[in-house]
Amino acid sequence: MGGIETGNKLQCFVLTILPNKPIIMSEIIENLKHVKQRIQQAVGSGDSVDLLAVSKKHAAEKIRLVAHAGQQHFGENYAQEAIDKMAELADLDLVWHFIGPIQSNKTKLIAGHFDWVQSVDRMKILKRLELQRPEEMAPLNVLLQIKIGDEDSKQGSSLDEIEAMAQWLSHAEKLTLRGLMCIPPPSDDEGIQRAYFNETKSVFDHLRKIYPDIDTLSMGMSNDLEAAIAAGASMVRIGTDIFGQRD
Ligand SMILES: *Cc1c(COP(=O)(O)O)cnc(C)c1O
Repeated sequence: MGGIETGNKLQCFVLTILPNKPIIMSEIIENLKHVKQRIQQAVGSGDSVDLLAVSKKHAAEKIRLVAHAGQQHFGENYAQEAIDKMAELADLDLVWHFIGPIQSNKTKLIAGHFDWVQSVDRMKILKRLELQRPEEMAPLNVLLQIKIGDEDSKQGSSLDEIEAMAQWLSHAEKLTLRGLMCIPPPSDDEGIQRAYFNETKSVFDHLRKIYPDIDTLSMGMSNDLEAAIAAGASMVRIGTDIFGQRD
């Protein structure tokens, strides 16, 4: 009896799983192509813009698929979830960016596993990352998250804080300042989106006069990448429009 029952269950499983899976997976590749086209169109004849594929809450096998299609940079918001996926994907040559809010007790995991951190918004976090970055790893690339458009937001730093952190980073040994990141308040009005992105770009230009080596301005997500690129983004961070809705 047991054998027959197992057989039925197995058959049921195969019938329900097989027809869906290839469709979902090929959709992701179509989505990736479409996002790249949108970026290309927005860039026009301007400088190229890097794509960060934001894979938080999506399974390692989806990341593998996107990696096989040529994508190398991935963004994650939850340290432990990301580290588990890094282990599953260790055979691939991927570059990992931490982009979520940073609690002090997570800095050690970030310093020990990531290539980039984009969401640094206070000095205390910088100091911990510098202490905790292992000697044998390459310097951790740092973007400072600037507060833009919402003074009450808990995330992001003021211009004064950004300047102080950039100054401190110029003496750091295991951290390299690469630029700025911003997450403006969501808006469907492209004029408003652009105003926030222009403001961030002007801070970036100001900072680059003092630190000419910075090269990365990370802004723009699924629904505002065009406005971000028009304002001068060098990297956009896209999750949903590649991987679909998160659970
Ligand atoms: C989740 C997330 C993204 C991607 O957002 P989508 O709307 O899914 O494209 C980009 N940047 C940050 C900081 C995020 O947390």
